[in-house]
Amino acid sequence: MKRYPADMADFMDMFPSEDACLEYLSIVRWPDGYTCLRCGNGDYWKKARGLFTCRACGYEASVLAGTLFQDTHKPLRLWFQAMWYVVNQKNGVSALGLQKALGLGSYHTAWEWLHKLRRAMVRPGRDRLSGMVEVDETFPGGRRRSGRGHGAEGKSLIFIAAQEAKDNENAIGRIRLSVIENSAGETLAKAILAAVEPGSLVHTDGASGYSFLSGYGYVHVPRFHKDGAPDDATPLAHRVAWPALAGSGLDVRSLRCRNGLLVS
Ligand SMILES: [Zn+2]
Repeated sequence: MKRYPADMADFMDMFPSEDACLEYLSIVRWPDGYTCLRCGNGDYWKKARGLFTCRACGYEASVLAGTLFQDTHKPLRLWFQAMWYVVNQKNGVSALGLQKALGLGSYHTAWEWLHKLRRAMVRPGRDRLSGMVEVDETFPGGRRRSGRGHGAEGKSLIFIAAQEAKDNENAIGRIRLSVIENSAGETLAKAILAAVEPGSLVHTDGASGYSFLSGYGYVHVPRFHKDGAPDDATPLAHRVAWPALAGSGLDVRSLRCRNGLLVS
């Protein structure tokens, strides 16, 4: 249902009016249709400016609430045009360029909008991995962990999430890396929630550290393999780890996977 404009002409066709922009936002926010945020009822009145009023309890929700358009006094169409402009400039965007493109009276407004849009584009958790994702942790340098829940000898653990490419299960789509303090369950939960969309199918090694996953809405499929066996529980995640390990001076070819850990 949600689609992106293919080109400028398509963009103009898709967003001819404020109502079209509001409708698009509501589809993006509530792809299965709006249900009352208070009582869950799916029957509502639509009012102006993207307001949804529940027919059962009267609760009023705005499709703009919590978005970067929440308190704007400018037309949504102008915002959409700004977004279109920003994502389509190959060589970066300046506030002056944005001001000219939109015909904004104020340079300051253009500057503020540009910063708002930039912040929105890098907002953590906004674009998490999804689909089939492999998850693992490793120490830079490939040192073995002493055990779950311990960060060994002042070394930071690297949390790795690697998404399978859509058209090739042996290829990596996108990755997310983060430094974590330790491999305790709640630390891993925080890392994975930031990196991976709930509902995704998550492969881990057979170690028990990820048993919490289903409680967070993930479909958890641990892969078990024999100690030291050449088959690898999370090959995509390890392929991400290896370049980092290679930089550590270890012979990457001598590394094997044992209980989901890279060992030399
Ligand atoms: Zn309600």
